[in-house]
Amino acid sequence: MKIAVLAGDGIGPEVVAQAVRVLEALTSDGMKFEMEPALLGGCAVDATGKVFPEATRKLATEADAVLLGAVGGSQYDSLPREQRPEQGLLAIRKDLNLFANLRPVALYSELANASTLKPEVILGLDILIIRELTGDIYFGEPRGIKWHDDQRVGFNTMIYSESEIRRIAHIAFQAAQKRNQKLCSVDKMNVLECTQLWHDVVIEIAKEYPDVELSHMLVDNAAMQLIRNPKQFDVIVTGNMFGDILSDEASMLTGSIGMLPSASLNDKSKGLYEPIHGSAPDIAGKDVANPLATVLSAAMMLRYTFNQEAAAVRIESSVKKVLTEGYRTSDIYQPGMKEVGTREMGDAILMNL
Ligand code: NAD
Repeated sequence: MKIAVLAGDGIGPEVVAQAVRVLEALTSDGMKFEMEPALLGGCAVDATGKVFPEATRKLATEADAVLLGAVGGSQYDSLPREQRPEQGLLAIRKDLNLFANLRPVALYSELANASTLKPEVILGLDILIIRELTGDIYFGEPRGIKWHDDQRVGFNTMIYSESEIRRIAHIAFQAAQKRNQKLCSVDKMNVLECTQLWHDVVIEIAKEYPDVELSHMLVDNAAMQLIRNPKQFDVIVTGNMFGDILSDEASMLTGSIGMLPSASLNDKSKGLYEPIHGSAPDIAGKDVANPLATVLSAAMMLRYTFNQEAAAVRIESSVKKVLTEGYRTSDIYQPGMKEVGTREMGDAILMNL
């Protein structure tokens, strides 16, 4: 099992180190991982002048899976756009054709009081957000900032082809079939033609999945419903930008953005696995970041790319166990619990593995 390890910037290297330790611990079960590091994002710009160097592209293409930390930092914000770390992320997603982003949002009951929402609103929460990842306004052309009538105007293009909508809709219906057979498609069809097409194509695909109950919701309402009554959702499918925003919002239902893993898959189950959070420059280098989202991303890698369900469950059970035992990084800390740093949290997981 060949894994490209792209730790990235900020807290990336700290949290990825813990996931790597967890994967290494599984080798005693006879699993063999070949893990090779490479540069992506700000660290790659610093070392090579490129956000997505050729050596990284080659390794990511050859590997079965990619484990990523996070990229970005304010020191790069004034660079030309093509040299900003986030462009590296967009480039690797596009390069590997990782169009399906799976973001499970499940609450560990031990963290019910760590969320800003009332426990009764979130206890039992288990949602899967499926975000289309290689289309939409993030990639659409034309884009830019230009002069028009003596002032600057900024513009981007929201665009989806029906084949792009179809392939993500199939992934979403099939995921719903394996869960509670409920799929909510989120769009903004009342004002955006692009998402009218999204809406219509999802309805066409629904005919192939009569066992799945399909509903539709406008994105503004979805943002509100996620806070009002999140347990009404089973699987949510949406475009790149709406999914970006809604999944960050949903992360707070679980207590912290430091808890949420993600998988980005192509049509051959090759995947890039990363926590949904960013590089958190405000806490980088302090050994306080929560590594659980990255560790849980490694579990998703075992499940979706390597088909090692038992090993994935083993990691997830260890995470649950450390939470039951009271270990907490500062983002999920509550009085009476054992506050630990990033590495100590890794130690606790290894003990339970
Ligand atoms: P962020 O997710 O990095 O941080 C938001 C807040 O959550 C911060 O207060 C941070 O301390 C906290 N946080 C994030 N992860 C945490 C963890 N594991 N444990 C504890 N607390 C955690 O978002 P931001 O501040 O908007 O962005 C910072 C940088 O990251 C920017 O350069 C941005 O472009 C980049 N970014 C990268 C990715 C990615 O690599 N996938 C995603 C989002 C943002």
